[in-house]
Amino acid sequence: MEKTNSDVMIGLEIHGYIETGEKLFCECKNFHDMKIIKPNTNICPICTGQPGSKPMLPNKEAIKKIIEIGLMLNCKLNLIEDKKPLIFQRKHYDWSDMPTGYQKTISGAYSIPVAENGKFLDIGITEVHLEEDPAAWNPETGQIDYNRAGAPLVEIVTEPDFKNEKQVEVWLRQLVLTLSYIKALNKDAGIKADVNVSIKNKTKRTEIKNVNSITEIVKAIISEVERHKKENLQTQETRRWNSEKNKTELMRTKEQAADYRFIPDPDLPGIKISRLYIEELKKSLPESPMQKLDKLIKKFKINKIDAEVLTKNLEIVELFEKVVEKIPLQIALPWITVEWLSVLNYNKKTMDDVKIDPNNIIELLDLLNKNRITPLKAKDILRKFIPNSYSPIKDAEESKTIDDYGEIKKIVKEVIKENKKSVDDLKNGEQKAFNYLVGQIMQKTNKRVDFKIAKSILEEELK
Ligand SMILES: [Zn+2]
Repeated sequence: MEKTNSDVMIGLEIHGYIETGEKLFCECKNFHDMKIIKPNTNICPICTGQPGSKPMLPNKEAIKKIIEIGLMLNCKLNLIEDKKPLIFQRKHYDWSDMPTGYQKTISGAYSIPVAENGKFLDIGITEVHLEEDPAAWNPETGQIDYNRAGAPLVEIVTEPDFKNEKQVEVWLRQLVLTLSYIKALNKDAGIKADVNVSIKNKTKRTEIKNVNSITEIVKAIISEVERHKKENLQTQETRRWNSEKNKTELMRTKEQAADYRFIPDPDLPGIKISRLYIEELKKSLPESPMQKLDKLIKKFKINKIDAEVLTKNLEIVELFEKVVEKIPLQIALPWITVEWLSVLNYNKKTMDDVKIDPNNIIELLDLLNKNRITPLKAKDILRKFIPNSYSPIKDAEESKTIDDYGEIKKIVKEVIKENKKSVDDLKNGEQKAFNYLVGQIMQKTNKRVDFKIAKSILEEELK
């Protein structure tokens, strides 16, 4: 019988767009959604490689983010105190998407990566490095769009520690979530990966280039592992993923491997990173999603499903952590995971699009907890917190809960009087009519009446 996947070895080289305001070596904007702007309108002499142009110093934000990525992946950072400065290399190749004839990258045989020897959820991280994106080139038409040329890219290289596609999928989703906590990657641009597959002591490694989403990566692995099990592959190959045919195709064998003739870029100075700078960055980093999840489950005894909802987004889980300091858990939890998230969803907003002071949510839930406003009224106010929250005290004063028995009884009697038909319907067994009457009471009082008291008085009056 076929053995399990235990001898399968899968490694990844993951590429993502680093979120910065500007490109890596010039002041052009670092756009990602290039489809919305006209080709070659976000360019300058530097990112189009004009003769005589020189790169500016590398974008500081990109350097900061690449270090933060290294830290989140528990890597060893290469510091000036320990080693030589980080040097951009020229990686030479002859494609139309790179007019200078070389890509500027802190990678290659002679280079020291920004970060190395890390571990993320049991998978070894070989190295993390920074490089510039080439232009978008259409080989069919020959058209080149330089809008994204020079955008900063991160490359994360893993050890071949994955055993199967399921493990890769879970890990990649956790990686993307973790990096979203530090806003390292552009979330619209997605990730791409080169995937390498081999079977230990049996087949030679194949590398599948440029697979462009987690779903496709999973499909490519399934197909390639299958091929390795069937065929006794003894040549190292570079392949491409054909999604339509659901199989990989040969690009080149090891013998045809490109020689990139790496040399240090004389236009760019080495980057020196001080230990102090890294220590400061470390202090400012958030806990990882896994740490947050663990804390929610252990400290607050929240069930895993709710904990996962909260940890999907750093701002949400941080909001919850602040709110639950002041508000009982049984109120804080549903009001964040259900009510607040549905307000955001309804308005098609994320926490990045709105300005929320956690104290305003605390004030609101405190008013609710003390029965000063009804849940319906609290929902109304919560909806008004988009795009900016505010102190709900004044709103609450104007819509104080009516919980005086006599006052509610008066309103109930009025509603009964005004809705004879519904009362008759109810007597004829139409239960819906009861809800209608309750609705009328709520409407009449602008949702301020205490729901439970109103219901019990209505039942009494209708007997
Ligand atoms: Zn530019």
